[in-house]
Amino acid sequence: MEKRDYYEILGIGKNASQDEIKKAYRKLVKKYHPDVNKAEDAEEKFKEVQEAYEILSDESKRKAYDQYGHAGTAGFGGQDAYDFNGFGQGTPFDMGDIFSSFFGGSTSGFDFGFGGQQRGQTQVRGSDVKYKIRLSFQEAVEGGTFKLKIERDIQCSHCDGTGSENKKTKTCPTCGGSGRVQKTQRTILGSIAMTSVCPECNGVGKIPEKKCSKCGGLGTEVERKDEKIKVPAGAYDGMILRFKGGGNAGPKGTPSGDLYIEVEVEPSKEFERRGNDIYSEMSIPIYVAVLGGEAEVNTPYGKVSLKIPKSTEGGSIFRIKEKGMPVLGQENQRGDLYVKVNFHVPTRLSREEKKLWEKLKDIS
Ligand SMILES: [Zn+2]
Ligand SMILES: [Zn+2]
Repeated sequence: MEKRDYYEILGIGKNASQDEIKKAYRKLVKKYHPDVNKAEDAEEKFKEVQEAYEILSDESKRKAYDQYGHAGTAGFGGQDAYDFNGFGQGTPFDMGDIFSSFFGGSTSGFDFGFGGQQRGQTQVRGSDVKYKIRLSFQEAVEGGTFKLKIERDIQCSHCDGTGSENKKTKTCPTCGGSGRVQKTQRTILGSIAMTSVCPECNGVGKIPEKKCSKCGGLGTEVERKDEKIKVPAGAYDGMILRFKGGGNAGPKGTPSGDLYIEVEVEPSKEFERRGNDIYSEMSIPIYVAVLGGEAEVNTPYGKVSLKIPKSTEGGSIFRIKEKGMPVLGQENQRGDLYVKVNFHVPTRLSREEKKLWEKLKDIS
C-alpha cells in the first residue's frame, strides 16, 4: 500500500512551524482516538497521525523525510521495511515499533492524557545495543557488508541462558511467578499501590534451582565479536539501521533486545549529496568551451563522456541521468549527477599559443 505523505496526513503545509504541527496533531489525535471514534478506520488513522507526528516533530527526522521521503525515515518509525537480512542468522531489518523501543518506550515525547492506551505491558527482554559505523562516500553509494566489532551479552553457554547450573528453574518465591511485586506507598493523596519488577527474578517469574557457576544465575555472558553488518546502497549520514534481536540477550533466557547501527558517511571532496542527487564541478579547456567537444566526467560509477556544446558558458550545469545516489528501498533507481562546468583561462602561454591568441584578437 502506498504510504501517504506525512504533511497531508496532518493537513499542514511543507513549511509548517513546530507549533502548527503540534496543533494539527493534537486535534487529529483527539478526533481519531479509538476510545472516542468508533469508525472502522479510526485506529489506523490514529496510528498514521502518530507516525507523521513522530517524524515531523523532530527536526532531524523531518529533514531526512523532506530529503528522502519515506525511505529517509527508515529506522525512525513507520512500517516500510527494506527487506534485507543484515545480521547474524539473518534477522531481517525491520522497523516495526522501532520508535518506542529506540527512544525509550513511553517516554517518546508525547503524552496526550487518554489513559493507559500507550503504555503496554513491560515485557522482560534484553536491552538494546547501539553502535556507529563510519563509511566513505563511495561505500555509502555501493552499500555492502561491513565488519564491526560488537560487544554484547549473549546467552550463557554453560546454562543455555537459564541461569541454572542444572538448567532447571523453579517458581520465584518472592513474586509467586508473576514477575511483579506490589508495594503500597503512602502519599498525601492516600495509599497508592505501586507495581514494580520483581528484584529476585528480574520479572521473569522463575529462578534457577541452583545458580549457574559461570554466570552467577544471570543467564548471560559477554561476547566480543566481529559482526557483519549489511548496509543498503544509498545509505545516508545519520541513517539508523535496526537489527531485531541483535541486542543484549535478556536475563534468564528471555528475548534479546535490538541492535541499532547509526551510519556516518564521510563527506566526499568531489561529490556533494543533495537528496538522491549528487553535485560536482569540473574544469574543461577553454577551446572546448568555445568550440564544443567532449569531456570526461567522474561519477561514483566510473568515468563517463559528456558532450560539451559549442559556446558553453563558465558555470553551466549539465545533468547526467542516473549517476546519482541509489534510491533507498527502490531497486535499480538512482538520482542524477549534476556537474558544473568551468574552464580555466591559460596562465602560461607558449610562444605559438600567444601568437594564436593575438591573431584571434586581430581578427575579431
Ligand atoms: Zn520474582
Ligand atoms: Zn550460566
